Amino acid sequence: MTVRTRIAPSPTGDPHVGTAYIALFNLAFARAHGGQFILRIEDTDRERSTPESEIAILSALRWLGLEWDEGPDIGGPAGPYRQSERGALYASHAHALVESGHAFHCFCTAQTLDQMRAEQQAAGVNPHYDGRCERLAAAEVSQRLAQGEPSVIRLSVPNEGECVLHDRLRGEIRIPWSQVDRQVLLKSDGMPTYHLANVVDDHCMGITHVIRGEEWIPSAPKHQLLYRYFGWEMPELCHLPLLRNPDQSKLSKRKNPTSILFYRDQGYLPEALLNYLGRMGWSMPDERERFTLEDMIAAFTLDRVSLGGPIFDLDKLNWLNGEWLRHGLSDAEVLTRFMHWGFGPSFFESTWPHLKTRITTFGEAEPWLRPLWVTEPEYEAAALHNVGLAPDVLIEGLQFLVWRLDAERQWGREQVMSAVQFVCTALQLKLKDWMPVLFIALSGSTHAMSAFDLAVLLGPDRTRARVRLALERLGGVSKKAQKRLEKAYQVACESGQD
Ligand code: GLU
Repeated sequence: MTVRTRIAPSPTGDPHVGTAYIALFNLAFARAHGGQFILRIEDTDRERSTPESEIAILSALRWLGLEWDEGPDIGGPAGPYRQSERGALYASHAHALVESGHAFHCFCTAQTLDQMRAEQQAAGVNPHYDGRCERLAAAEVSQRLAQGEPSVIRLSVPNEGECVLHDRLRGEIRIPWSQVDRQVLLKSDGMPTYHLANVVDDHCMGITHVIRGEEWIPSAPKHQLLYRYFGWEMPELCHLPLLRNPDQSKLSKRKNPTSILFYRDQGYLPEALLNYLGRMGWSMPDERERFTLEDMIAAFTLDRVSLGGPIFDLDKLNWLNGEWLRHGLSDAEVLTRFMHWGFGPSFFESTWPHLKTRITTFGEAEPWLRPLWVTEPEYEAAALHNVGLAPDVLIEGLQFLVWRLDAERQWGREQVMSAVQFVCTALQLKLKDWMPVLFIALSGSTHAMSAFDLAVLLGPDRTRARVRLALERLGGVSKKAQKRLEKAYQVACESGQD
């Protein structure tokens, strides 16, 4: 058997370090077994998927040094590798399941489902689809379909007993069928949901091992049913532990920068970040801390993965990056990387338009570019206080801005402006009174290029990190204040400012 693994990102946001972590382990496992590693884009959520996100994910993974054998950009024998291009494959499979009695048409409208949920909640039962359309007589179903009534296709799930799964790392996992919902497989517009598309593609692409994050364990019973109903062999499952913030919570952009682009733009070496991800729940047999991708592949076994939630800790990453700078690369290589990062053509291209009207010699460039070069801007809390806003307004405004920026899925001047406008409206501030706060938070001074342009150049994660840093410099937000601010933020969002 040739081992075939895959990473299947959904292109709905910035390239996440968690995606790189899962990709790395899939790649290492495939390579260690002389197999293939595939990249598949799961873009069935047409509303949230964007081509920009797909491009960013592919280029971020490549920047890290992860190469796939088949994928949407390089093709391969099992393509296309973008779910949106796989045509009617999913619908025909869903209909085959209806034919074989393993799935059924459901005609419930959103209103019916809302009412069902409300009734279940009132009765103290966990909301779930109650299976009413599964019990419809065949003649009624045919008639309603013939009349063109919209329907979805749902998965049939056993009423009793439990699902027994085998996970390479966790052994036997038992989940009662009563906890597994009759999942929608095909939406009324004919588009598949994740579960159907994922299983059909893993099978059609010959995936032998599904190595993914533990957040997908609850989906595994549905997948097992699908494999069984189709009569296909299920790939071996291996659910890796989730990356965590130092406080043990799930790694999220609210607490830690999660975009690979953040680490690239802050000047980390891809080798160091990849090495660090390789240490998330895994270690070299000789416990060496600095190792290359080739070293990892040569020594890789899944048995060395430990299940304790690996902590993604910036201090440790920084230390490892320093090791790589000093001992991992030659000075000549460091020079190439350094020039590319801070002085290369793409850096020039993005910054020069902002610089060319402001400087007369190269010697004057540094203050303008400094905010982009530094890890954190230098300033004291007093600089923020000197803007002249009341301390609680400062805190509230910065916190609102963080939340608002966290919610942005696109990133450009317009989004940043609208987030700032939101804060000003919510706090009844004039834009000109708030802007100095943003200048300081992003650059450390009020003598900088437009704060909006700077935010665009910094990108979403670096910008958010700096606004959060400003909050910390002001002493942070207590748990109690946080609760109060959350409520106020909710009110501001609801009052139609969005
Ligand atoms: N599209 C899913 C994701 O975004 C893939 C999950 C899986 O590997 O099955 O992570």
